Amino acid sequence: MIEVKSIIDGEEVKSDQYYYRECPYDTEKTVTKAHVANVEDLKRAIDTARDVFDNNRYNWVSDYKQRDRILFKISEKIREESQTFIELLVNEIGMPLRQARAHVNAAADIFEYYAGFGAKLYGNMKFLPNGDLIQLVKEPVGVVGAITPWNFPLTQSARKIAPALAVGCVVVWKPASYASAISYHLAKVIMGSGIPKGVVNVVFGPGEKIGSELVKDSKVDKISFTGETTTGKGIMQEASKNIKRVSLELGGKNPFILFKDANINQAIKGLMYGMFRNAGQACGATTRLIVEESIASEVEKAVVNAVKKLKIGNPNLEDTDVGPVVSKSQENKVLSYIDIGIKEGYKLLIGGKKVTSTELEKGYFIEPTVFSNVDNKSKIAQEEIFGPVLVIMYFRSEDDAVSIANDVIYGLTASIWTNDYRKALRISRMIKAGSIWINDAYTQPSEGLWGGYKQSGIGRELGLQGIEDFVEVKMLYTNVNDAYTHFKQVYKE
Ligand code: NDP
Repeated sequence: MIEVKSIIDGEEVKSDQYYYRECPYDTEKTVTKAHVANVEDLKRAIDTARDVFDNNRYNWVSDYKQRDRILFKISEKIREESQTFIELLVNEIGMPLRQARAHVNAAADIFEYYAGFGAKLYGNMKFLPNGDLIQLVKEPVGVVGAITPWNFPLTQSARKIAPALAVGCVVVWKPASYASAISYHLAKVIMGSGIPKGVVNVVFGPGEKIGSELVKDSKVDKISFTGETTTGKGIMQEASKNIKRVSLELGGKNPFILFKDANINQAIKGLMYGMFRNAGQACGATTRLIVEESIASEVEKAVVNAVKKLKIGNPNLEDTDVGPVVSKSQENKVLSYIDIGIKEGYKLLIGGKKVTSTELEKGYFIEPTVFSNVDNKSKIAQEEIFGPVLVIMYFRSEDDAVSIANDVIYGLTASIWTNDYRKALRISRMIKAGSIWINDAYTQPSEGLWGGYKQSGIGRELGLQGIEDFVEVKMLYTNVNDAYTHFKQVYKE
């Protein structure tokens, strides 16, 4: 069992209250014992962060070369310790081995991408027609409260911590409780990179108490949150009280639009990858297959065949494709949506049950499930299920496909499959989503972009744009020629 403690100003903090985390594929095993922080611990973490930032302790805010070296070191250490991270991902959240390996690499990539940014971040300047000079400078936003989810715990944290550190921010991080040991190990790697004490402070505790206090605290300049849309709404409301900066990465119900002229074989592979990775517990998962009606029955057969080939099992095994869902409450939620789909009379093509085989009975395994001919207005087509449940809908025209795709409250991702590139571009312009893949699904390079339209969020992560969420932009106006033409337009001498 791994013991997890908060890390404040470089010191580990004990508690006499514990949170125990079970293993989702074998619930008789307890994998993590986390010391639960209290509000005083959180306040100390925030005060520490404030002091480091406001007093430029260790030259953190001014010395970008130091920050760049540290980000490189973190990335190297994640790769060196990849085996430990993989084991933690498998045991604490049930992520299958191959997916865990890719996830660790992706997290290292993000730190590597942002290393070097400190030295390369410039503002802008311009001479005005009257000869005066304006300079636009970018400054770190300050103390950042990072609140992260359990489903992709390393990359979701890296997308916040790496750009925040690159620009000179100081971080108080509240990781997801389900992913305590994974997050603690990342925190230890960060601490071992030579980073000065107090630049990253990690506080473990329940979101409703520690997370919400972090949001409320007026000493925190910005909240960068990833999680459910309902939690995000509460955070935005609370943050409005002192106009705290917020960026929100929230839920999704993402379309996968398949035209009859596409390479159907490749598309089905893309669909399996985009839909069932991490047992469908993915904000960007392509959970709504919108298929051209004339090929619907051929595609449905192919989907069923592909789902039959998915190996559901112990996430420790190399050939497992679909592991367990993360918890009992997640299992109940997913099964209740399946129930609704059945009760509302949609055609269940495959799956639909909890896995009860002897070797998996101790875990939260749910069969990959597919409903066809679903009404886009139904609950299973509109709400984020966050489990291995795909719904299929049909379209007759491009306009029809776009209107079904856009007819949800979310707008995170979309995947378009066709061999007609002009058509793909036409459609991608009309879809309201932050990431659109053409003949691909769920690929997220660190050089790219991630974020949502509509109720999928506010702000963008990854790539050059990912920096903007952690800076303020300031104008310096210098009168260089004594002309004061603008004064003269308004005041008589
Ligand atoms: P939650 O919203 O339940 O939790 C996310 C984080 O917020 C956790 O650290 C949680 O702590 C904390 N938290 C919970 N309640 C509060 C509160 N009142 N105030 C402040 N913090 C709080 O989401 P999940 O962890 O269940 O993650 C799944 C969700 O995340 C899905 O909806 C998914 O779509 C979304 N997501 C979005 C992504 C994106 O990039 N758009 C990427 C990944 C996931 P604790 O764990 O202790 O409860």
